[in-house]
Amino acid sequence: MISALDDSEVRRILVVMAHPDDVDFSSAGSIATWTDQGIEVTYLIVTDGDAGGFDTAVPRSEIPGIRRAEQRAAAKCVGVDDVRFLGHPDGRVEATFDLRRDIARVIRQVRPDRVLTSSPERNYERIAPSHPDHRVVGGATLDAVYPDARNAFAHPELLRDEGLDAWTVREVWIAGGPAPNKHVDVTDVFDRKLAALRAHVSQTAHMDGLDQMLRGFLTRNAEAAGFAEGRLAEVFQVVPTA
Ligand SMILES: [Zn+2]
Repeated sequence: MISALDDSEVRRILVVMAHPDDVDFSSAGSIATWTDQGIEVTYLIVTDGDAGGFDTAVPRSEIPGIRRAEQRAAAKCVGVDDVRFLGHPDGRVEATFDLRRDIARVIRQVRPDRVLTSSPERNYERIAPSHPDHRVVGGATLDAVYPDARNAFAHPELLRDEGLDAWTVREVWIAGGPAPNKHVDVTDVFDRKLAALRAHVSQTAHMDGLDQMLRGFLTRNAEAAGFAEGRLAEVFQVVPTA
């Protein structure tokens, strides 16, 4: 068994994902359970999802604004008001030192106990979770947690110019991590997760079977965890970092 923090020990959580909608497909149910307990949750989205969408009638220049608004609306469905964007180009996120600094900056601003991100590893059973941007953002976030955010001598300009002291995150939750060890029961908040996904109109409006598809995924997760029949679960790999 892993030693994940009890939610009662957690005051703030930072979620770092590549695209608008990533957090909602993987984790919105868990986030609803966290905000319901009074935990403050901040989203940091690295791109504006400007390579996504299905409607060719929408001018591409309007996509970033549309997708930011959709992510903000989706966040509200699960109790999150603080949504930040880095504006990197969708599909071309690179593992640079600057990306690590930009994530470390927000870690030092938010001072989260728990960070949630995507997996830096490729999934060889299903290809869709392993979008290159997801892998790069997952890896850069883990690097930003350790060592960058906690080492006052890393990215010295953050302290010198912005007054941001070092901060030690206590654990990282990886959505779609290679060795799942944490299942969160989201049955009672499923409707809010579905509402969050439907808020991404440009991504999900054309998906007729969204409800059933989600229930299928979440049911399989719950079964793998040994939860009672009819329950729904999201799945993570928790990595202690303290
Ligand atoms: Zn994505």
